[in-house]
Amino acid sequence: MARVYNFSAGPSVLPESVLEKAAEQMMDYEGSGQSVMEMSHRSKTYDAIIKSCEALLREVMGIPDNYKVLFLQGGASSQFAMVPLNLMNGSGKADFVITGQWANKAYQEASRYGEAHVVASSKDKTFSYIPELDPSTFTPDADYFHICLNNTIYGTRFTKLPETGNVPLVADVSSCILSEPIDVSRFGVLYAGAQKNMAPAGLTVVIIREDLIGHARDITPTMMNYQIHADNGSMYNTPPCYAIYICKLVLEWIKNDIGGLEKMKERNEAKAKILYDFLDSSKLFRGTVEKKDRSLMNVPFVTGNEELDAKFVKEAAAAGFVNLKGHRTVGGMRASIYNAMPVEGVEKLVAFMKEFEAANA
Ligand SMILES: *Cc1c(COP(=O)(O)O)cnc(C)c1O
Repeated sequence: MARVYNFSAGPSVLPESVLEKAAEQMMDYEGSGQSVMEMSHRSKTYDAIIKSCEALLREVMGIPDNYKVLFLQGGASSQFAMVPLNLMNGSGKADFVITGQWANKAYQEASRYGEAHVVASSKDKTFSYIPELDPSTFTPDADYFHICLNNTIYGTRFTKLPETGNVPLVADVSSCILSEPIDVSRFGVLYAGAQKNMAPAGLTVVIIREDLIGHARDITPTMMNYQIHADNGSMYNTPPCYAIYICKLVLEWIKNDIGGLEKMKERNEAKAKILYDFLDSSKLFRGTVEKKDRSLMNVPFVTGNEELDAKFVKEAAAAGFVNLKGHRTVGGMRASIYNAMPVEGVEKLVAFMKEFEAANA
């Protein structure tokens, strides 16, 4: 079967050249006579892989020297607990902007460990926009301020960061990491489940300012303490070896084939524009998000008729455009157009949508 265009929100499409390289190295990684899957994580060969992955991530993202990069497991969802366990250690307070389900889960989990405040929410309109923030409502002595930078389910993203002063800004960047340049120095912690834009599932990347490490609460399980992982170079226990290896290949692709994050951003903007321009001109389809807050990565849209939505999803899948069904809580459709989705994938999707519109409008 020919490869499909996969619009899954995660796990999601990987660059074909990365998959080909992984296939080529499957049985014998660089003369080691083993697959990376089979290798000891303490071997010299593997050590070179994880070190190179970290060095590439630092280079591609421009991560300052006073930040640690941690390769963990447990998904972004584990970070909802790990962040408060490690950071809610001063006033015991933290601020949250509720822009969707993931942001809300981070808030709820932190509420178990301290005083979690909702600074703003866009729940009133099904999270279809990013709320305006008023810094005078922020908790001045909060231990951290949490946002979800790109809201995977609802298709919104922050285009300007909250001014939190000395309060460390913590961001869930699961669905936008590596999609465009980001000023890491504006954040205390960035975390991401890797299965959207970096690697297959199983790897969670944490980028944390060094001074925020080493203050975990006593009750913090060893495996949830950032210090343990930082002190052990993400090798306290077995890391997600194969996912880290694929992440390295993805970073090589971004660096060498794409030309870095500025170029990645241009490509992503051009790709998203093709789809949004069509949605804005279509008589059948429309986007569900306020234009100023539209995500570059996740594009939700509807026809306004549930039966027609279902028909579209079914016919699209038959034509080779898969995983376009919207999140179960939103309905309609969602096209996730992560880094690895080629421009032709979006062009062909729009051509298909035009045909569907002509036949059904
Ligand atoms: C997918 C996603 C999550 C959940 O990630 P897991 O790795 O499955 O725990 C959290 N936040 C955001 C923004 C996501 O896109």
